[in-house]
Amino acid sequence: MKLDIIVPTLNEEETVEKLYNEVNTIFNDIKYNLIFVDDGSTDNTLSILKYLYKNDNEHIKVISFSRNFGKDAAIHAGLSASTAEYAVIVDADMQQHPKYILKMLEFLKDNPDYDVVCMVNNYKNEGILQKIGKRTFYKLMKKSTNQNYVPGASDFRLMRHSVVKALTSMHESNRFTKGLFSYAGFKTHYIDYKPDKRIAGKSKFKLKSQITYAINGIFNFSTLPLRFASILGGTISFGAFIYLLITVIKTIVQGKDVPGYASLMCVLLILGGLILFVLGIIGEYVSRTYIEIKNRPVYIVKEKIGYKEDIL
Ligand code: UDP
Ligand code: MG
Repeated sequence: MKLDIIVPTLNEEETVEKLYNEVNTIFNDIKYNLIFVDDGSTDNTLSILKYLYKNDNEHIKVISFSRNFGKDAAIHAGLSASTAEYAVIVDADMQQHPKYILKMLEFLKDNPDYDVVCMVNNYKNEGILQKIGKRTFYKLMKKSTNQNYVPGASDFRLMRHSVVKALTSMHESNRFTKGLFSYAGFKTHYIDYKPDKRIAGKSKFKLKSQITYAINGIFNFSTLPLRFASILGGTISFGAFIYLLITVIKTIVQGKDVPGYASLMCVLLILGGLILFVLGIIGEYVSRTYIEIKNRPVYIVKEKIGYKEDIL
């Protein structure tokens, strides 16, 4: 049995060696590769990874990007380089302790009808607002895509090679990995866990990135916002028509003056705002089409270390 452990890394100089040591201890009797994908780190991460490779070229492989392309691009590069029977995606900061991989492996070995094991963050470490925000997002994704989204399902997943092939066959450049997993399907077993605290360094996903991530998820996998825009437009037009009828009847039957300037301004401003809002929604889809149609690579590799076609 062979296992590829894929680790996206961005500025993780304080954590990668600890992760390596831990993995080395846990998997000493399993044939494994630790594939680090350095996503354009600006600290010493890459030099440390090269040093780890020099000491253990049997287990370590490194793919380094020409700049930061994002965690999802790094996952894509790692999966594209994976050839083992099983592959697992794990963060470099030890929040997702590698000890869980053994549990995941055991499950897939004992259950040949399953293809993926996914660790589910039970949100015990997070604040109430974050919990509500994330739960709402997953519910919205599930409703708007008709795909299966489990709240808290993380990228910390172990999968068979057939799943790796399915994921890498999707070539879109704006990648939302959780959505790709849902789209690909495969029988998945979910295990609840509480992520540990980051051992060092800082999180790269602050609130703003999390909101961008959620918006990306919705626009990449659902056309529900467009339907929402149509329903909104239809409802307003219907309301306006009823209002028109009432005004005409009032004027003819009761001979009342039509109320003037202020109400007209309100309606104009509200409608103007809504038109811009709906244009924004359409723009999101147009911009995504524009980016996809250029068909640029998802990432650009600067160096590959530990592979046959090494450029060192
Ligand atoms: N990461 C990456 N590219 C990025 C951002 C993050 O490769 O642009 C890596 C990061 O080094 C870590 C993993 O993705 O191994 C998860 O990042 P982080 O721990 O900052 O996210 P959080 O756990 O706070 O959601
Ligand atoms: Mg983390």
